[in-house]
Amino acid sequence: MELSKKVKSITPSQTIEITNTARQLKAEGVDVISLSAGEPDFNTPDEIIDAVYEAAKAGHTKYTASAGLPELRETIVKKMARDNNLTYAPNEIYVGNGAKQVLYNVFLATLDEGDEVIVPAPYWVSYTEQVKMVGGEPVTAVTTEDTHFKLTPEILKAHITEKTKMLVLNTPNNPTGSVYSKDELQALADVLAETDIIIVVDEIYEVLTYGEPQVSIASLNDKIKAQTIIVNGVSKSHAMTGWRVGYACGAPELIAALSALTSQSTTSVAEPAQYGAIAAYEMAPESTEKYRAIFEARRDNAYAKIMELPHVTCVKPEGAFYLFPHMKNCAEACGYDTVDEFVKDVLREKHVAFVPGSGFGTPEYARISYSLDEATFNDAVSRIKEFIEEKSKI
Ligand code: PMP
Ligand code: GLU
Repeated sequence: MELSKKVKSITPSQTIEITNTARQLKAEGVDVISLSAGEPDFNTPDEIIDAVYEAAKAGHTKYTASAGLPELRETIVKKMARDNNLTYAPNEIYVGNGAKQVLYNVFLATLDEGDEVIVPAPYWVSYTEQVKMVGGEPVTAVTTEDTHFKLTPEILKAHITEKTKMLVLNTPNNPTGSVYSKDELQALADVLAETDIIIVVDEIYEVLTYGEPQVSIASLNDKIKAQTIIVNGVSKSHAMTGWRVGYACGAPELIAALSALTSQSTTSVAEPAQYGAIAAYEMAPESTEKYRAIFEARRDNAYAKIMELPHVTCVKPEGAFYLFPHMKNCAEACGYDTVDEFVKDVLREKHVAFVPGSGFGTPEYARISYSLDEATFNDAVSRIKEFIEEKSKI
């Protein structure tokens, strides 16, 4: 069958692919350890599951308004005021099937053919592909380790052209774990406020910070808020990846467009799942602290372990649940030209799965998730160490 040019230009999500390969190997009985997980390893809290059950029993099993249940949009308005000090009206909130679909719909609603979107690299695998899917042109702005992979005003300015329509920011960041400080955001905002560039900020890892607290660029001033579309959801904050609920906050005309799009594509998010998101945001914000603290302890352990690997260097992450070590020297010391080949053989020979940096726009690195218990994580790193020691002797 002849497929469209557009779909043929898309690279499938490497994070999803590797996670699926590891899952498949496990099902076949291979003792594989996956450091590729892009989701919390906890189950959704019981009170959320109970709320979904109660909602379904009470008959909330129908289509809903395409922008989301009014009750959920109200709850998100309250959440934004409580946690982010930001005032939105319900008609400035759109609920979609996870932050991923919300992002896709945002691109669809705002980009025309040839519009340029600045995407700082390393970037989460889906931004560039989604932009391409709607006919936009991703323009990668490569950042460096010395700024902890954060976009600087200089790099931003160097990538702005007449065709620039949008900038995608992600903080806390997947895959680097970097978190932008208020000053760093302000420096970018000073450049952006002089333009009409739309800022899409993906705050899905909002609650997982271990140093700098999360600051939303939209909270800096009204001009920037008007330019910004915040994307967030319950996947990472409340261990709800499988429920598929995310949201956007932005201008009413954007939200109306997203609603119209949804009315012709997916109708709405599953109604019971939306009740789950209401229960999640009605829980005390402290309820996420327990998980944040566990991830912080894991971060400390994971970072120390990775730093013990020969030929590997790593910036200490301050958020999310990933490490993003430089592995090119290590791959070369083991006789590989690329980190991709090194990663493939670690999986084949030592049964440890993680994601090469190529999918994130930076092929000299690799992403290692520490969303798993410490003992298993340490076992995985021992296997990688063994692999390096064996190969680098040859
Ligand atoms: N943004 C980033 C940076 C992510 O890592 C993820 C996780 N897949 C998402 C968005 C999408 O999250 P979800 O669709 O589960 O809300
Ligand atoms: N956010 C996760 C990751 O980056 C989940 C997988 C995905 O949606 O790409 O691994």
